[in-house]
Amino acid sequence: MSFSQLNDIMLKLTDEVTVQVLNVLLGHREIIDEEIVNILNEGSSPETEENIEQEIKEEPAPRIALKEVRKSLYKLNERSLARYRRVRDRETGYFVYYWSPIWERIRDLIVRRRKSSLKKLRQRLDYEERNLLYVCASGHNPVTFSDAFELGFICTTCGEELSQKENAQTIHFLKEKIQELEKELKTGLDELDGLVELQEKVK
Ligand SMILES: [Zn+2]
Repeated sequence: MSFSQLNDIMLKLTDEVTVQVLNVLLGHREIIDEEIVNILNEGSSPETEENIEQEIKEEPAPRIALKEVRKSLYKLNERSLARYRRVRDRETGYFVYYWSPIWERIRDLIVRRRKSSLKKLRQRLDYEERNLLYVCASGHNPVTFSDAFELGFICTTCGEELSQKENAQTIHFLKEKIQELEKELKTGLDELDGLVELQEKVK
């Protein structure tokens, strides 16, 4: 179980192992940290004879240690993205930690990050649309309308006439990017809703 946007965001905030751990958490209602280690290492264990042979020839895939997984779980806990329930094992007397993801917080994180990116893009678009720049044919330093007016629409470097700089392309790019992000935000939320439904089915 993995979904793109959360992984992108988490990679920026944390590291590869934590992203993998979170993805395992998302497929379970509750899971013990040892089980997470097993799931993460399953992919690297040889299944068929050919695989074993292949694996002997090649460098074995690095296995993820329990210590590393625990570190990741605490990172997620610090960010309030995962919680644990502690139960004492009657036989061994040791504590067992049952981990689960905190859906609302994960959802909030995605929404918050996407919205902040959107806001920045909209501000940039606004700036581009307001500040049409003027420049000579050689592209010597572009100036705003009021500066161009002061200069009599003449370039201070080459003396050529200043004309409005073509930033339509930038504006077009920004508009496309904004649309893309808006769509992503929506699909990201649909994706999350789907996972919440799935989570309710997981026993
Ligand atoms: Zn010039």
